[in-house]
Amino acid sequence: MKFRLRTRLIMGFVIITVLTMGAFALVARISITQRFNNMVHQAGQEYAQRMSVFFGLYYASNGSWDGVQDLFINFGSPLSISITNNPSQIPPYLNTDPGGIVVGRFPNRGIIDPRDERLLLIDSNGAVVFDSNPNAGSPDSLLAKRDQGVNIVIDDQTVGTVVAASSIGILNSVQESYINDVNQYTLIGGLAAIIIAVVLGAYQAFKIIKPVKALSQASHKLASGDYSQRIPTTSDDELGEMSSAFNQMAEELERQETLRQRALADVAHELRTPLSVLQIDLESIEDGILEPSRETIQQLQLEVSTLKKLVDDLRTLSLADAGELVMDFQPLEINALIRVNAKRIANSAKEKNIQVSVDLEDGEIFVMGDEQRLSQVLLNLLTNGIHFTPQNGSIQVESKRKGTSIQVLVHDTGDGISQQDLPLIFERLYRSDQARTRESGGSGLGLSIARSLVEAHHGKIWAESDPGDGSSFIFELPEKKNE
Ligand code: ADP
Repeated sequence: MKFRLRTRLIMGFVIITVLTMGAFALVARISITQRFNNMVHQAGQEYAQRMSVFFGLYYASNGSWDGVQDLFINFGSPLSISITNNPSQIPPYLNTDPGGIVVGRFPNRGIIDPRDERLLLIDSNGAVVFDSNPNAGSPDSLLAKRDQGVNIVIDDQTVGTVVAASSIGILNSVQESYINDVNQYTLIGGLAAIIIAVVLGAYQAFKIIKPVKALSQASHKLASGDYSQRIPTTSDDELGEMSSAFNQMAEELERQETLRQRALADVAHELRTPLSVLQIDLESIEDGILEPSRETIQQLQLEVSTLKKLVDDLRTLSLADAGELVMDFQPLEINALIRVNAKRIANSAKEKNIQVSVDLEDGEIFVMGDEQRLSQVLLNLLTNGIHFTPQNGSIQVESKRKGTSIQVLVHDTGDGISQQDLPLIFERLYRSDQARTRESGGSGLGLSIARSLVEAHHGKIWAESDPGDGSSFIFELPEKKNE
């Protein structure tokens, strides 16, 4: 059978409540009944004991049980019994007169009600000599439990036994109705608890289901491409956490989608510019407006190489994204790599009269790396440095150990990078000055490629810049330990 979550939750609440309440009611019923019976038994026993004193006094003063039944004639009113033989045996709760006259009241817990508490006085022969309620039917059940009664012993002789109904577990009507009431209230309480459980369960189920339902609907829409889906976070429990985790995921997907769309548009735009130039120039040649001179062909080749570089960069990035960049990891001495690449930019530095200095950590430092890829990173940072540093500036390249890593730092004395551009320069196709860098051939892919390559070497790369104090690009790689 297939149940909806809400039904299952309500059923769960009800089953738990019924089981709990059932167990509780059962335990309560058993313990209350047992304690009540014990109490009744104990009270009955005490009652029989007190009565046995009373009857004992009667026997002691009378010498026999004759006339004992007549005591009930005086039921409910003070009894006056004269005993003269042994006043010292008179228990303290009976009023005594100085002349040995006992004035007592039937020593009950209140007033003995013959219709309520049946009391038997059985003589030494087993005959009933006093029955507080002879109309209540055969006294056999009480007689049968005579051994549980209280014996009256006078001068070492058992002259009779008192048996109270409650002391042998026979409940009177008040006690009976008390126990029935307890059972009834337990049942009503249990039913009320179940009803409350169903109502509360339904409410709780509704509260749980609401965000789950919202999540399910939003997930479907998200799956069909609507990344604007968000669900309200109404609580700070696990359901709230689930909602905010979903919102975070949707936000990230939306961001990724925006980036993807932007990247596609940017790439199209980047490709369009050199292609348009090519198209216009070729059309002009075709129409005879432009001479297919050596100079024109060189110009066209420049556009083609810009296009090729862009396509190559895009390919490198997409391979890095897919984790498919083929890397040839070898032990690489980083100081040597820095020297080689610093030399490669020497000419362009000279053109702008930029001083390139190298300050390297002593000795040799090895990393596991792909020589070509790490050269690409270094060269990108160095050419950027030359690019963004005005005439007569300087570029400093450093290497230094940092714990188990090695840091390579490229610092220039250019204009620096604004705080708002700093977190964005490693994004694809990002250029802080679109016009200037495109003119100079920059595609805005260099730093994102550098980041992908450094990360493929299990390293990290970042930039620091104080406006007016140039920029520093730092990448950090794990140092290769000597085995
Ligand atoms: P590009 O190929 O266009 O230079 P990059 O990814 O290498 O692209 O750089 C992205 C942007 O970062 C640049 O357009 C520039 O705004 C900024 N940038 C990079 N290097 C430097 C630097 N040394 N000084 C100032 N800005 C820099």
